[in-house]
Amino acid sequence: MSRGAFLVILGKQGAGKGTQCVRLARNYAVPHVATGDMLRSEVRAKTELGLKAKAAMDAGELIPDEVVTAMVALRLDRDGAISKGFILDGYPRTVAQAEQLDTLLEPRKLDLVIDIEVPTGVVLRRLAARRVCLDCQAVYSTSSPPKVNWTCDICGGEVVQRDDDTEVAILRRLNLYEEETAPLIDFYSKKGILTTINGVGSTEVVTQRMIKEIDLALKNAGDT
Ligand code: ADP
Repeated sequence: MSRGAFLVILGKQGAGKGTQCVRLARNYAVPHVATGDMLRSEVRAKTELGLKAKAAMDAGELIPDEVVTAMVALRLDRDGAISKGFILDGYPRTVAQAEQLDTLLEPRKLDLVIDIEVPTGVVLRRLAARRVCLDCQAVYSTSSPPKVNWTCDICGGEVVQRDDDTEVAILRRLNLYEEETAPLIDFYSKKGILTTINGVGSTEVVTQRMIKEIDLALKNAGDT
């Protein structure tokens, strides 16, 4: 692949964004930039940002747009991701953030925005069962736990339920998704760079659906 991919992945909590983005990042050799993971690292390291963000995150509320955009801008600047490509997961989450991202990327444009569609009943079940590694953020579930005693298969870290995967916080995040993030679908659809894929199916099947769309978008961009 001579040119990186510039991608945004949308989808409600539990749609499988994190799992799919790790696979796509490997396939396209670009960094997976997940704002939730970055913020959780800040919380663990007790940085100024982490200390400020923790209460909002535990309650399922959003962090202010400017704060998250500044964090993403720093990350994209590292290793030249801003010119080589990236997969954004969990950002943008509001139309204001999407506008800030456009400004950040100028004159470059996103190649594709993929919305992973999964019915709410399915995501509620997935979130209640979700468990994550505290160290590397690998995702497990009560039905597919790590091999040994809630110790991460990949890095040996402790695998736990996230502080914000409580029923109240999950419902709050899903409501906010409808209010703040669903308008993004309109925003990107008007720009003609949005595609929706069915997120129900095995991990591999969903990855293949996404790769097909991305390859097509990259080919079209290469042809023009
Ligand atoms: P989920 O998709 O399950 O809500 P994430 O790991 O993406 O989980 O995000 C966890 C929390 O981090 C969010 O509930 C929010 O508090 C904060 N957060 C992550 N990304 C953003 C963002 N782009 N804008 C505002 N807050 C964010």
